[in-house]
Amino acid sequence: AVPLVDDPFATLNPEQRAAVEHDIGAGSSRPLLVVAGAGSGKTNTLAHRVARLILSGADPQRILLLTFSRRAANEMTQRAGNVLQRILKSSSAGAPTLPWAGTFHSIGARLLREFSGRIGLDESFTIHDRGDSEDLMGLVRHEIGLTQTAKRFPLKGTCLSIYSRVVNAREPLDLVLKSTFPWCMEWEAELKRLFGAYVDAKQEQNVLDYDDLLLFWAEMASDPELGPEIGSLFDHVLVDEYQDTNRLQAAIISGMKPDGAGVMVVGDDAQSIYSFRGATVRNILDFPKQFSQPAQLITLDRNYRSTQPILDASNAVIAAALERHAKTLWTDKVATQLPQMVLIPDEAEQARWVCNRILEHREAGIKLTTQAVLFRAASHSAALELELMRRNIPFVKFGGLKFLEASHIKDVLAVLRFAQNPNGRMAGFRVLQLIPGIGPATATRLLDAVAEAPEALDAVEAFTPPGKSQGDWQEFVTLYRRLRTPGLRWPADIELVRDWYLPHLERLHDDAAVRAADVAQLAQLAGGHGSRENFLAEITLDPPEATSDRAGPPLLDEDYLILSTIHSSKGQEWKSVHVLNVVDGCIPSDMSTGSAEEIEEERRLLYVAMTRAKEHLHLVVPNRFFIKQQAQMGDRHVYAARTRFLTPAMLKHFEECVWITADKAQSKKPMPDSVRMLVRDRARNAWK
Ligand code: ATP
Ligand code: MG
Repeated sequence: AVPLVDDPFATLNPEQRAAVEHDIGAGSSRPLLVVAGAGSGKTNTLAHRVARLILSGADPQRILLLTFSRRAANEMTQRAGNVLQRILKSSSAGAPTLPWAGTFHSIGARLLREFSGRIGLDESFTIHDRGDSEDLMGLVRHEIGLTQTAKRFPLKGTCLSIYSRVVNAREPLDLVLKSTFPWCMEWEAELKRLFGAYVDAKQEQNVLDYDDLLLFWAEMASDPELGPEIGSLFDHVLVDEYQDTNRLQAAIISGMKPDGAGVMVVGDDAQSIYSFRGATVRNILDFPKQFSQPAQLITLDRNYRSTQPILDASNAVIAAALERHAKTLWTDKVATQLPQMVLIPDEAEQARWVCNRILEHREAGIKLTTQAVLFRAASHSAALELELMRRNIPFVKFGGLKFLEASHIKDVLAVLRFAQNPNGRMAGFRVLQLIPGIGPATATRLLDAVAEAPEALDAVEAFTPPGKSQGDWQEFVTLYRRLRTPGLRWPADIELVRDWYLPHLERLHDDAAVRAADVAQLAQLAGGHGSRENFLAEITLDPPEATSDRAGPPLLDEDYLILSTIHSSKGQEWKSVHVLNVVDGCIPSDMSTGSAEEIEEERRLLYVAMTRAKEHLHLVVPNRFFIKQQAQMGDRHVYAARTRFLTPAMLKHFEECVWITADKAQSKKPMPDSVRMLVRDRARNAWK
């Protein structure tokens, strides 16, 4: 055995250690569930477990690690690597190669590609993102005549949500309608017909949507022949944030590992915030009896993240939940400072106040990267972003505008997808109409021809478009021929597409320069992936979500502040956390229909936000709050009240600050030209 010079497991507390050492050396390990509150070291324990498994001889290539995002997977692999390195004291240890670490969706995509031949799936399949899926749903809905005959038929987005819920919750349509979309119940028969046609369209076009990645995986996992085969690829299956998985994901796990051997999941029922996507805490409750052998349960109640006053306030918020979460966290991190509750006139003042505090913290030595501002919806940070730019405070935003939603990025990806899978009509339709002189009718004719031809390229070459597009058409044919020719080395494809696309970009947009920079950024991202199909799948499933991903490397060296939606802040921690708009209408959101379950989920959301803070927590309550309403009513300011989740009895956990006078000097300062340019560019950057 390797002598332990520096034992990194020694820092673990007895419960964490029990989880890490669980059935080590016992041939096979029984299923293990760790349920514990925020900041109690669940993720940390998982990372140590990975390291421990590898130390005891497990093959890293046979460990499956399922996390909430690619970022989380990378972080955890990194942490495990650090542990290994400390033990082995060798510079070569580094991060272990865990080829199977990622989200359920991205791992699903990989397995499906690998097993495609076995399940009658053409391996050139492409993946629809949410936007494409909605569009296809809309198209199918139109094709089967549901738009003309039925005026009040649900919108395409609603149809997709219903479909998705049926698949992910594994519930029959009528139950889903009754429980979640009661206003659509009268359309049950039509919806059934629509979903049938939608599934047919996906299969004809050889495209999968997000739900298919889980659904097909679950089908494979429950197949008597394939299930054991897929299960035997992995000796260990570890899942973080298990409270936010859905029925289908639980079925995947038990399909692959019917006896639960090697399965370890960690989660916190008090942090379940994705039930609107079909996730269910029942997965945690059912876990102990899900497998053919009973699961072990370990709970952790010591918090290592936050100071006691922050924990007291957070515990108070969650203790008031209708459903009891029988956990009270404790810590030995004493502090005299209570979390702050700041009452402020309006959102503009909120932005100024938050900036002041952030700068003060920085003066006191708290780097910007260890500070975060959290909010309920991506749009809520608008005023703050302006103020940050005005004051030259660099920031990165998570969970906001998605890079992939820009029309020019969609164009480039559509060309690559159309080359990968010529039967994908959403991509084909988009690409063809970029060519001058080609409209929907011509595009449809060509796509029909492509669908019938044994080789798409032949159909494309044989096609004669309307007269005036000849030259442009030939250029496209040349590009398409090269893209369809096997053997082109990735990412050379994307450079070809870029060269072809830039003239179109200039023709179509007067801010082509800004957009061209995005395309260059995309090409750069492409270099990090081994193949076209791999790149397309990864970028569709786990898109670069932070603005930093497009701002390029310089920002990464700087000190910058984190802005994030609460949903995207899951699992993370910062020394100082500001939560914006802690008012009714925002948390809970007035978008929620007001059912008790939805309101409770909003309470957990506030709990998640508060428990991200290590040392300083500021909840900001603006008195006037800007609400974006339905188009016909216009936007307006409303007078808001402190969120109902902070009852008068809880105020003793906070230091209340009232902010009346504005920092006028700051607000009068004119905006420098550079900032105005930036703001204008951003606005013009046409995110759809
Ligand atoms: P969340 O529910 O928010 O995902 P978590 O339970 O996953 O939280 P971690 O993120 O793993 O918690 O840990 C929270 C913090 O506590 C981290 O900074 C981690 O390094 C630290 N920590 C965890 N366990 C210990 C320990 N035994 N000793 C010292 N620090 C610890
Ligand atoms: Mg965690």
